[in-house]
Amino acid sequence: MNGLGTSPGIAIGKAFIYETPEIIVEKIHILDIDYEIARLDSAIEEVKKDIQKLYDLSLDSIGESDAEIFNAHLMILEDPELYSAVTKMIKDNQVNCEWALKKSAEYFISLFEGIEDEYLKARASDIKDVTDSLMRCLLDIKPLDLSQIDKDSIIIAQDLTPRDTIKMNRDKVSGFITKLGGKTSHTAIMARLFEIPAIAGVKDIFELVKNGDIVAMDGENGEFLINPNKEEIQIFEKKLALRDVEKEKLLSMKGKPSISQDGHKVQLAGNIGSVNEINHVLIYDGEGVGLFRTEFLFMDKDSCPSEEDQFLAYKEAAEKLGNRPLIIRTLDIGGDKDLFYLNLPKELNPFLGYRAIRLCLDQEDMFKIQLKAILRASSYGNVKVMFPMISSIKELRDTKSLINGIREELRKDNIPFNDDMEIGIMVEVPAVAIQSRKFAKEVDFFSIGTNDLIQYTLAVDRGNHHISELYNHYHPAVLNLINTTIENAHKEGIWVGMCGEAAGDEKLIPLLLGMGIDELSMSPSSILRARYIVRNTSKEEVYPHLDTILNLATAEEVEEYLEGI
Ligand code: PEP
Ligand code: MG
Repeated sequence: MNGLGTSPGIAIGKAFIYETPEIIVEKIHILDIDYEIARLDSAIEEVKKDIQKLYDLSLDSIGESDAEIFNAHLMILEDPELYSAVTKMIKDNQVNCEWALKKSAEYFISLFEGIEDEYLKARASDIKDVTDSLMRCLLDIKPLDLSQIDKDSIIIAQDLTPRDTIKMNRDKVSGFITKLGGKTSHTAIMARLFEIPAIAGVKDIFELVKNGDIVAMDGENGEFLINPNKEEIQIFEKKLALRDVEKEKLLSMKGKPSISQDGHKVQLAGNIGSVNEINHVLIYDGEGVGLFRTEFLFMDKDSCPSEEDQFLAYKEAAEKLGNRPLIIRTLDIGGDKDLFYLNLPKELNPFLGYRAIRLCLDQEDMFKIQLKAILRASSYGNVKVMFPMISSIKELRDTKSLINGIREELRKDNIPFNDDMEIGIMVEVPAVAIQSRKFAKEVDFFSIGTNDLIQYTLAVDRGNHHISELYNHYHPAVLNLINTTIENAHKEGIWVGMCGEAAGDEKLIPLLLGMGIDELSMSPSSILRARYIVRNTSKEEVYPHLDTILNLATAEEVEEYLEGI
């Protein structure tokens, strides 16, 4: 049986069915409006205390930045729009507080669920979590106690809220299987944080499993078995033992330098979408952040974040990393990422359209605010900036001239910044790879964004499932562009990194090392494996194969060749 693997790891344990009692609300006509509003106020106070307790509890177990989720819940609880929607309905319709809360919650949840962006969509579950807590408080419904479970339990649930995860006795939990949720849901985020294997999206899980059934699961590929036989259990136990050995091997990479067998250093960094994720980079001993996707700072808001808000976020990130580099990528909106408050037009070819640097240069005021915030943060750490989707030298020059203007302003106002902050571009449009010698004369570094470089080189939409087989980073055309970019960067004396998904591919890393890549930035959990590969590869041994590989005809031939070296 299969679901969506959302947190890797193998687990074998006993099913514990966690069904939250159903909330049934009746519509009641009321006469005493003040009384209903007072009930709402006191429920809010009570839930507030409860969330505050959870926040304190989570500070100890998961640390300040990940405990932030409970602050976000407090904000929802105190949200004036939600409060006024509920009280207005009580007053206007003379209905009980539970009914008004149910209707208002449904409205806000569907509003968020309707947003295309996956991250914001997932926030609908936060609103549900908070309003459900309020409702349970009003109706005096007590949820099942997750702190009293047996050892090696596999929790089977509709979905798990951060509150459930924090309250449960995690030493006794071996895995989660949920009916709902996806990779960005909180169950998945928390599960990865606690390194508990998790599978989501199993629609009929409650029909399949009973309390006490034995469940074997693999959170990597989403596979699970219910009451497996002896041989099946043995297979899972073997996988479990192998994973443990593998984990030990990778953990032993912590603190070791990322240097190939013949002495070539590669900087191994992590990609992040929020300041909190730096914790993961540090846990996996990342040597910096090679890509900070700033668009997420702009997404869970109803308008652009102010210069001060951005400055504080970039400064916090820079300070958390100390001397390690922090490469901040300026806003990459458009394509598949929307900001509803910008009212972007619908386009026929959004990935070829009003996106990233194009949009920023057009919306100069917004862009200048971001550049200023980045420059200000540059005096608090090892900050570098890079621009997404550059396709012409003119765009780069226009952007640099904006930066120069801001430097002048900062100087005039005596605001400190690092005048030597490195400026780079992402190489994700083939034109730039082809012209990389020219670009290299005008920047301090390149970071190859293979996610887009592949789609633009092969004319394959990166998100279209129908053609996903054509999307392949082993394609010789892509590899030739990567090689040209690295060669040209080095000819002009600048360093070159890679921050697309391909950077974490263990089969590709030796080849990239052979080409001379200086930095690889990837999902933090891949860093230790990448270090293991770098430390077990000799650049001089790969180099002689380079010509042959670049002259192969197909992606399949390249992959096969790489498996053999
Ligand atoms: C890329 O295109 O490779 C990249 C890292 O940027 P994004 O995935 O954010 O487009
Ligand atoms: Mg990109």
